[in-house]
Amino acid sequence: MTSTPTLGLHDLQAAEAKLLVQTYERYPLLFVSGSGVHLRDAHGTEYLDLLSGIGVCALGYNHPSITRAIAEQAPLLLHTSNLFFHRGTAELAARLTEITGMDRVFLCNSGTEAWEAALKLARAHAGLLRAEGKAIGTRFLALEHSFHGRTMGSVATTHKAKYREPFAPVMPDVHFVPFNDVEALRAAFSSDVCAIAIEPIQGEGGINSVSQAFLMAARELCDSTGALLILDEIQSGMGRTGKWCAYQHSNVLPDITTLAKPMAGGIPIGAMLCTDDAARAFTPGMHGTTFGGNPLACAVALAVIDEIIQSNLLEHVISTGEYFRAELRRLQSKYPAIVDVRGLGLMIGVELASEDLAKSVLSGMMERHILINRTHETVLRFLPPFLLAPGHVDHAVLALDQLLALQKQLEPSHSTTLTGASKLG
Ligand SMILES: *Cc1c(COP(=O)(O)O)cnc(C)c1O
Repeated sequence: MTSTPTLGLHDLQAAEAKLLVQTYERYPLLFVSGSGVHLRDAHGTEYLDLLSGIGVCALGYNHPSITRAIAEQAPLLLHTSNLFFHRGTAELAARLTEITGMDRVFLCNSGTEAWEAALKLARAHAGLLRAEGKAIGTRFLALEHSFHGRTMGSVATTHKAKYREPFAPVMPDVHFVPFNDVEALRAAFSSDVCAIAIEPIQGEGGINSVSQAFLMAARELCDSTGALLILDEIQSGMGRTGKWCAYQHSNVLPDITTLAKPMAGGIPIGAMLCTDDAARAFTPGMHGTTFGGNPLACAVALAVIDEIIQSNLLEHVISTGEYFRAELRRLQSKYPAIVDVRGLGLMIGVELASEDLAKSVLSGMMERHILINRTHETVLRFLPPFLLAPGHVDHAVLALDQLLALQKQLEPSHSTTLTGASKLG
């Protein structure tokens, strides 16, 4: 195994099947490099990437700003631990609080760690309120179809039974509320609740936007008892929807928000941001991380924020996203198999009539060298790099158009025929 670079896809498949804990079912594609919005496989074939590593590679691949930030920081300092100061932490925190409207930041290494910090802060904050004489409990309200990550607290607030039940007992005292059901939220809320947890746009759950009415009701309920509103922006944040945070499309501010995926364009980092009032609940030693906020991750996150600002990418995300959805709606008027087109900015979902259809369209797109993803069984998910141009949209929409036309021709026996014909190799 010393000649790793020469291993082909089949060698890697065999080695991984034997050596890795089997947590992933990978597509049989071996990528070796990328540039802009394209990935290149081991044969030199280019793929248009409309998924960006599940919303991570917001600046695409081999972006000069990111490569430069890594090259400049690497020879200076990669890590010091959180026992000492380094120059990146305060500078990144200043930028993050400025763009999100929050007061304070806790830096970590991933989405689930940011979410775990948020849950712990909410419990500690409720404890502080109780010590101050307020009646407030420990319960979390979360939403049906939510996804907040894979650690014990994160899965406890994640709705899907498959992610939660094998690990029982997970963190207790979580109650799930039907999506966008204001009355159910009001009915479930009481002084037992320490926080309401919401993704402003559910990602894994199928690209579902929380309504303004629901967000406002959650804010009002929290304000009535001192409970905290936690908004998970791990997938929707950092410009994905054309604002730094999706909640900025509304006039609701959370007490806590979480960021991660695109923060440093592929270098692992996460952040839990909160108000001064919520932050009172953590004192030195109560929470921490060895790697969190290290000099390399901070330098790259700063470069990503600068690039988004300097290249006006928020405006670009809004206009490209509008164009993309308009083109998808044009297809929807042609094909009844498209049930819904939804999302905001470059966080887009296309709901199809069946799981089989969604599967065959996904593999058809891959055969045409376009990478997308399927979530919540029937929803095609698009999370492209922010650099996506209208020409890339046209290319993807034409491919979808052709696949759906073919599908229509094959009806009603489409599921067997297309799935069988669309094996990747
Ligand atoms: C991906 C995701 C997480 C978990 O992030 P990881 O970095 O995978 O731990 C949490 N919440 C949301 C909304 C996500 O999309």
